[in-house]
Amino acid sequence: MIKIENLHKKFGELEVLKGIDLEIPTGKTAVIIGPSGSGKTTLLRCMNLLETPDAGKIELGSRTLQFGNNAKIKTAELVAFRKQTGMVFQNYNLFPHLTAIENVMEGQMIVLKRSKEEARKKALALLDKVGLKDRADNYPHQLSGGQQQRVGIARAMAMDPQVLLFDEPTSALDPELVGEVLKVMKDLAKEEITMVIVTHEMNFARDAADEVIFMDDGIVLERGTPEEVFEKSQNKRTQQFLNKVT
Ligand code: ADP
Repeated sequence: MIKIENLHKKFGELEVLKGIDLEIPTGKTAVIIGPSGSGKTTLLRCMNLLETPDAGKIELGSRTLQFGNNAKIKTAELVAFRKQTGMVFQNYNLFPHLTAIENVMEGQMIVLKRSKEEARKKALALLDKVGLKDRADNYPHQLSGGQQQRVGIARAMAMDPQVLLFDEPTSALDPELVGEVLKVMKDLAKEEITMVIVTHEMNFARDAADEVIFMDDGIVLERGTPEEVFEKSQNKRTQQFLNKVT
């Protein structure tokens, strides 16, 4: 279970997260939607501490971090917390000088201290899972954007995280490559891996989400099943947004 309480984040004077409360049960897929600038990416980045929240609490797995009130969190604690999360970035962020399989092995060996053989075995199994076993020895520049992003997903999974975080994973892709990445994500959702996904792909949210979270102007305005949010929402802001994007 992931639990977020009263999370706040400012950039200078700009208050981007204004008190976020969320609970995501283990094994569920939560999809965060909402207008550009509403704080979706910032929330996701706070969840793996790429951004440090100003106040609030995040519980993940066996760990809880409390921010604010001059709370000093030790670096070792931050590192241990972050290890529980796997991030899939908009721009893949693969190491260009490493092959696909080396990209998936690197963190396993350096962060988790797995042996090279063990890391290779796991990496191959994961590349197989995302349909790229035969591309294991290709460098990122030899792969399409969709293939690179699938390597990115395998790389995040290789760390056995408690939660996979996806930050607009398909928005840098040519339209014809979006489907292959969404398919991999849908398969993962079926396996009951805990996932939190920021996306503009409303059809994906409708099909794959256990819970849809609608963010607006730094708060969670509404959350519920896809049916509750997409079909039955009584909220004017939600309706306006959905009318624009669907
Ligand atoms: P969304 O993902 O919903 O589009 P973001 O979380 O990316 O929203 O951004 C929310 C607001 O925070 C935007 O106004 C954005 O410009 C601002 N912002 C995001 N990251 C930073 C940063 N590192 N420094 C300053 N402002 C930022």
